[in-house]
Amino acid sequence: MDWAALRDRFILPEGVIYLDGNSLGPLPRGAMERVRRTVEDEWGQKLIRGWNEAGWMDWPARLGDRIGRLIGAAPGSVVVGDTLSIKVYQALASALEMHPGRRVILSDTGNFPTDLYMAEGLIASLGKGHDLRIVAPDAVEAAIDDDVAVVMLTQVDYRSGRMHDMAALTKAAHAAGAITIWDLAHSAGAHEVDLAGADFAVGCTYKYLNAGPGAPAFIYVRPDLQEEVRPALSGWLGHSEPFAFDLSYRPGRGIERMRVGTPPVLQLAALEAALDIWDGVDVGALRARSLALSGRFADGVAARCPDLVPALETGAVRGSQVSLRHPEGYAIVQALIARGVIGDFRAPDILRFGFTPLFIGEAEVDGALAILEAIMATRAWDRPEFHAKKAVT
Ligand SMILES: *Cc1c(COP(=O)(O)O)cnc(C)c1O
Repeated sequence: MDWAALRDRFILPEGVIYLDGNSLGPLPRGAMERVRRTVEDEWGQKLIRGWNEAGWMDWPARLGDRIGRLIGAAPGSVVVGDTLSIKVYQALASALEMHPGRRVILSDTGNFPTDLYMAEGLIASLGKGHDLRIVAPDAVEAAIDDDVAVVMLTQVDYRSGRMHDMAALTKAAHAAGAITIWDLAHSAGAHEVDLAGADFAVGCTYKYLNAGPGAPAFIYVRPDLQEEVRPALSGWLGHSEPFAFDLSYRPGRGIERMRVGTPPVLQLAALEAALDIWDGVDVGALRARSLALSGRFADGVAARCPDLVPALETGAVRGSQVSLRHPEGYAIVQALIARGVIGDFRAPDILRFGFTPLFIGEAEVDGALAILEAIMATRAWDRPEFHAKKAVT
């Protein structure tokens, strides 16, 4: 892979080492041009004709197929729209309905809070006494029993970077008659994904896929389940004939039924350009390089910053990030940002650094290590301005 050429496809500000592509990917050069064209030529000139003439209405399924290639999903099984929180709700609502006799949703303490919050909200709305059971990540497999309707997990823990064995857990869930929902927020565009028979999967496009702030999410439904799935969010664009304007809902064909309302066309334009970059990427080679870069960083920290403790348990498989613990983690991250090394902080004590080979190489890893070592050695983080909490950490 020509990593330098890939890096050149992004706009990266001078003097910044960007280790936060796991939270918000950088701006692809092509996205600027693509969004400008959609704004000026399509919205500006075609006006409402853009829905037909520019094909806007088909983008959610067309771009879904392009994401499908990155997560090992068959064409026609992924559709794009809404935010990830909404897609989690949709998948869970459909899954629970497919399993009316069981009441437990099993998840783990490494799941991202919004996934758990959406489950809580859905449970309350359903009012059927469902139970959200949250166990430690390494206790999930043992907790799958005959009461579990749905196993709902995020493959890579947003805090520690620990990666679940998706195939093994999916197999265990299916053996117990449970349905699986995998959140691929930190997987899609980070490593190869083997859906391994998973029933539902969801993920977002603004992290490793680089489609920009607020870019829409995606949802996958296994092809043989699609006609069985009843969409809880039965919006008009998931109807079989939206422009028949029927008074009652009939689900659309296949994955189309997981659409809800009007697609975010400008964000989809950015997503399309971001996905162009992936056409030339071998995800296996990307994963190998990501592990080499994150390993280089983790080893450097272990050798040079003894106060920073790895958040990943020994022996666990690492996703595409390195997470470190320190009681003053927030201030340390602020001091790093002030020197151009952008990572982020996750409460209560985690410093998080993403390794995204599309635009990060050895030079950035070594540069970040040198600055981190200096900040730790001189306690440069211990200044009032670095302790003041901002709204987004
Ligand atoms: C980033 C992330 C989200 C964010 O959800 P939005 O609705 O897009 O804000 C949800 N779940 C997981 C696991 C995430 O990593």
